[in-house]
Amino acid sequence: MIIWFTEHNWPWNPERYRFPAEQMLLTLFPGERPEYPDELPESLGERGVMIALSRGPKKASISVMVKMDGRCRNGVVRFPSDKLDEPQEQVYHTVSHALKQAFYQAGTALLGYELPWGSLTGVRPVKLPTRAMLAGKTAKQAQRELEKVYRVSPPRAALAVECAKSALDVKKSLAGNEMALYIGVPFCPTRCAYCSFISADVKRSLSLVEPYVDALYREIELAGRLLRERELHISCAYMGGGTPTTLSAEQLHKVLSAVENFLPMERCSEFTVEAGRPDTITADKLKTLREHGIHRISINPQTMEDDVLQAMGRAHTAAEIVEAMALSKGHFGGMVNMDLIAGLPTDTLEGFERTLERVIGMDPANITVHTLALKKGSRLTEESGEPCAPETVEAMLALAWPYLREAGYRPYYLYRQKYMSGSFENVGWARTGTVCAYNIVMMEELQSVLSLGAGGITKLVDPDNGQIIRLNNPKYAKEYLESWEKISAAKQTAADFQTALARRTQGAACGS
Ligand code: SF4
Repeated sequence: MIIWFTEHNWPWNPERYRFPAEQMLLTLFPGERPEYPDELPESLGERGVMIALSRGPKKASISVMVKMDGRCRNGVVRFPSDKLDEPQEQVYHTVSHALKQAFYQAGTALLGYELPWGSLTGVRPVKLPTRAMLAGKTAKQAQRELEKVYRVSPPRAALAVECAKSALDVKKSLAGNEMALYIGVPFCPTRCAYCSFISADVKRSLSLVEPYVDALYREIELAGRLLRERELHISCAYMGGGTPTTLSAEQLHKVLSAVENFLPMERCSEFTVEAGRPDTITADKLKTLREHGIHRISINPQTMEDDVLQAMGRAHTAAEIVEAMALSKGHFGGMVNMDLIAGLPTDTLEGFERTLERVIGMDPANITVHTLALKKGSRLTEESGEPCAPETVEAMLALAWPYLREAGYRPYYLYRQKYMSGSFENVGWARTGTVCAYNIVMMEELQSVLSLGAGGITKLVDPDNGQIIRLNNPKYAKEYLESWEKISAAKQTAADFQTALARRTQGAACGS
């Protein structure tokens, strides 16, 4: 679809505003792709978006006209003209915000319905109410802001505020000389149809596993030395991937021994390991995890419908999930998270309800309800597989919320993804006292995350200004094994950054 910026009044080149315009285009009309012709075609043709900025003595405005199939709607958002004289970054923020709201007005007028998350396009909707409450607003005010300014639906706004409260609770416990820890293990027994992660099928990459464990050991050792030298600590930890329990009990022992021996884990309040696929879980591995102080695992059925599991390329049955869960009880009690996905191809509302009942019946501490995302690179997008219609996904989620609440679960973190069916969300639900702080820290970017292993992204978070530096470890196991220099340099940068931050926070606490 053509997006055309009228030529006048823009502070700097209007091309800077392509990004917010594209975000709204993809949110409102997911199948459309933006086009920027050199010349304005006559009356925009049948489909197009025209965006104009006008500036009067007191008020400036952004107007957006959306034209589709011969129908046309307008949206206008006004703001004080002197906002355009502020520093560049603030002007960018003001104009982008107005552009998105005006685009949303026009787009929804054309569609004839609102979106669950209104004009919000980012993956972290909880950040807004968290910030609002940190700035002194009440939960009610934060919710009203989401509903009125961003036109978020009341149930979603309430959900975001509930998660913001959990984020604020966790934030209180964080210190400047701490980092969260992520360890990546990019192997799985087989590849699921909806997977776009870096996971390699272990049957094809078996020869990489042992060298990978050795390389990971070396990276943990280096990170441990750097952190200890600087008196930095790990606050919470998560081992994901991939499926870490694809490793043997001996390999898990080796990696976790390195964590214990080298990393400053004394203050680590929780350590979760993904044991996502029941076909990788054995009594030996669970025992090893427990012996190394892992206090939560994640077993991820996604669905308890055997035909859906099979269609998704999961080489296990629902009965194996029940067995794995029973086995894990002996080691972890109920401290298990279980992931579900709403909207999987071939699933139905009735099937999803059966899944919910069976998963709740297994009594895990946490249940995370995902909405299917059709990610680039997954077999689902490349080959076939019609996901459930957005209306069915909506019905599945509408069913899940009261089911989970009634069983004693409360939402504690949420995020959205690109290409989600129906533009919904993924929500983590937890029983009282069992929230996974790592999920909150990572998703709300409350603290730096030190990532080790292939595909890990170290995020260095400056809580004072919200700025984030990202340092990517190589994505694939093979590449990871060949990139020691890059990996070790990133660890040094991370340690230096956190040391400076720790000093600054300590200085502020002392009033120096
Ligand atoms: S278990 Fe997770 S990481 Fe592994 S193939 Fe399936 S979706 Fe991908």
